[in-house]
Amino acid sequence: MKQNYDLVIVGGGMVGATLAIALSGHGLKLALVEAAELKVEKVPNYDDRAIALSYGAQRIFGALGVWPAMAPQAEPILHIHVSEQGGFGFSHLDAKEEGVPALGQVITARNLGAVLLERLAQLPDVDLFAPARVRWVSVDPDQARIGLEDSELGARLLVAADGGNSFVRDQLCFETVHKAYHQSAVVANVTPSKPHRGIAFERFTANGPLALLPMRDDHCALVWTVADEKLEAMLGLDDVRFIGRLQEHFGWRLGRFEKVGRRSGYPLSQLWVRHSVKPRAALIGNAAHTLHPVAGQGFNLGIRDVAALAEVVIDACRKGEDPGSEATLARYEAWRHKDQQQVARITDSLVRIFSNRWPPLRLGRNLGLLGVELCPPLRHGIARAAMGIEGRLPRLSRGVPL
Ligand SMILES: Cc1cc2nc3c(=O)[nH]c(=O)nc-3n(C[C@H](O)[C@H](O)[C@H](O)COP(=O)(O)OP(=O)(O)OC[C@H]3O[C@@H](n4cnc5c(N)ncnc54)[C@H](O)[C@@H]3O)c2cc1C
Repeated sequence: MKQNYDLVIVGGGMVGATLAIALSGHGLKLALVEAAELKVEKVPNYDDRAIALSYGAQRIFGALGVWPAMAPQAEPILHIHVSEQGGFGFSHLDAKEEGVPALGQVITARNLGAVLLERLAQLPDVDLFAPARVRWVSVDPDQARIGLEDSELGARLLVAADGGNSFVRDQLCFETVHKAYHQSAVVANVTPSKPHRGIAFERFTANGPLALLPMRDDHCALVWTVADEKLEAMLGLDDVRFIGRLQEHFGWRLGRFEKVGRRSGYPLSQLWVRHSVKPRAALIGNAAHTLHPVAGQGFNLGIRDVAALAEVVIDACRKGEDPGSEATLARYEAWRHKDQQQVARITDSLVRIFSNRWPPLRLGRNLGLLGVELCPPLRHGIARAAMGIEGRLPRLSRGVPL
């Protein structure tokens, strides 16, 4: 039997779930299909990774009415400090200087996911198919068809939010650009002896970029990029040796590291699509762009896709237009293309520039860091981009409901 919808979202990760919440309540018939059971301990990426949410992402959650439930578990980022191990250059961004209460917020994907899933379960106009895996998709001129194990869904618009290995993207033959970095991220909770005072540290080390993000109760979330061949050894170190290695690379800005929690490894690569729409279909989130976590921009970029797509779709419906028409999708792509390509390119450049130990390049990047530090307008531009409030902003990114 076939059920017809205005819009079907494939993927109930942070991006797909947020889109369903954004579109609900506007008279559309919606469905969300997720391969895992919709419980926080079952959805794959609702895990312990710390997500640095930009100021803009926080505003989107605010406009969707879910931020009050997230806020008690989030820690504000008041400053960002960027430096290189053994280098003289550094630069910093400051919330006060930008005239905002915080540059962003840090929350675990698990806590963020729990709030999204709770809201999703309360939406009367979103049919949830979970656990249910999409087995095939095809596109007719007036609708997309989505095949599940034992049923079929029709949609005027199919939105793929099914992550970096997107099945929908492959089925519909979207052209991708892929980069293997042969790097992995080691993620852990650490406890320093000094309070973090809301500072997020990004430090480029001989082993790879290392981020320490402020968390509640004066813990910090560590995200340390290492070459793939070093991953097993890093994960296998006992706590004392791991802390020693971390101390050596990070230094003493947070005093002595006293404790480290369980370590997990994530393989890293980068992928983006040349175009994010095709007839009756749009890609959002990691399905459209999977980024290296060096700048903490992957989800922030994905949620900007959500804000723009929701606005384009709702505005089309209000004007009596087809939400999956070529014209609607062209508006979405024109809006998002530059931001998606720019963030992917900047992230990739950061990984390459800071992975190179060639002395003249090291000198150049340290001078670059100092240059940014000494030039307030440049710092301001970088801060606005990092906060996700550059360019033409969707209503949700301005904190205005749809
Ligand atoms: C170590 C690390 C740290 C990070 N830190 C940050 C950060 O600080 N800030 C930031 O902005 N980003 C960060 N990111 C990036 C962020 O985690 C991702 O961008 C985000 O999780 C992507 O969400 P998504 O919903 O697009 O995809 P996913 O989380 O991959 O969700 C896709 C969903 O689709 C489902 N699915 C897949 N195939 C099918 C199918 N055929 N049928 C039905 N369902 C299907 C899957 O089960 C899954 O639930 C980090 C990433 C890593 C690895």
